[in-house]
Amino acid sequence: MLLSVVVPCHDEERVLPELVAQVTAVMEDIPADLEFVLVDDGSRDRTTEVMQELHSRDPRVRYVSLSRNFGKESAMLAGLAYARGDAVVIMDADLQHPPRLIRQMLELLQQGNDQVVARRTRDGDAFGRSMLARLYYRLVNALVEVRIEDGVGDFRLLSRRAVDALLQLGEYNRFSKGLFAWIGFPTATIDYRNEARFGGDASRWTLRRLLNYGIDGIMSFNNAPLRLAIYVGLVVTTLAFGYAGYLVVAAVVGGIVVPGYVTLVAAVIGLGGLQLLFLGVIGEYVGRIYYESKHRPHFLVAAASDELPAAARRAP
Ligand code: UDP
Ligand code: MG
Repeated sequence: MLLSVVVPCHDEERVLPELVAQVTAVMEDIPADLEFVLVDDGSRDRTTEVMQELHSRDPRVRYVSLSRNFGKESAMLAGLAYARGDAVVIMDADLQHPPRLIRQMLELLQQGNDQVVARRTRDGDAFGRSMLARLYYRLVNALVEVRIEDGVGDFRLLSRRAVDALLQLGEYNRFSKGLFAWIGFPTATIDYRNEARFGGDASRWTLRRLLNYGIDGIMSFNNAPLRLAIYVGLVVTTLAFGYAGYLVVAAVVGGIVVPGYVTLVAAVIGLGGLQLLFLGVIGEYVGRIYYESKHRPHFLVAAASDELPAAARRAP
């Protein structure tokens, strides 16, 4: 059995040797062959050079260097396309995903699971942040038909057929958490505690990126927000008409009292705001259609230790 370890890397020159050493050590007494598929996602530091060094020292370390920074989702996809293993582990470069879990993951794979997911417990996270995360997953799960769990990230083991299934999903806007849930197959979960980042700066997830990611999670999976727009629009319009009727009656019965200015302005602002909001929702979907319709590749390869496997060449 061949296990591929796919690692998306962006500015990870300091961590990579350590990561490769730790994973290799874990795999020493596991009866499976190992290959690394390191993906350099347009790093500005010497990540590609470090990968080349690692490759020349140990040919089991394969690498792909993308032509620019395409984002983690695309880097993961590149890694999956290049992976030749019967099973694939996806993990971060920064050792926040403890390599020791791979042993347990492989055991669960052998028991017939196609996906083995590592679930990070949130102790140690700032209180506000974990509250927000919990709220967000509540919302997502209320809107989206696949179940996405809190703490479940990209650290997971996939069987070959799960990888092939993922490679068939060619959408341009990729939201992996949802895609993993969408393909289904028997899935097992392992809990682990979050580790501090090794080398490099803290998480690159700024509030803005988190927010964008959150919107992606909801938008890329269904059209519930459009549905919501219809309902809210309906409710507001009904209320507005009801109120207008009341005003007419009041004017007929009590005569016209001049003011009414506040009501008017309130109505204009309220409805204007709603319209803008839902125009935004619709625009978001139209934008997605625009991107999908271009059929651009998800990534471009600038350099690689070897060719893309033939089987993956037709993949997205
Ligand atoms: N990463 C990437 N492309 C990017 C940003 C990040 O390939 O544009 C990689 C990064 O090198 C790391 C993983 O994705 O291996 C997770 O990134 P990070 O540690 O910054 O995020 P967090 O741990 O906070 O989720
Ligand atoms: Mg990290």
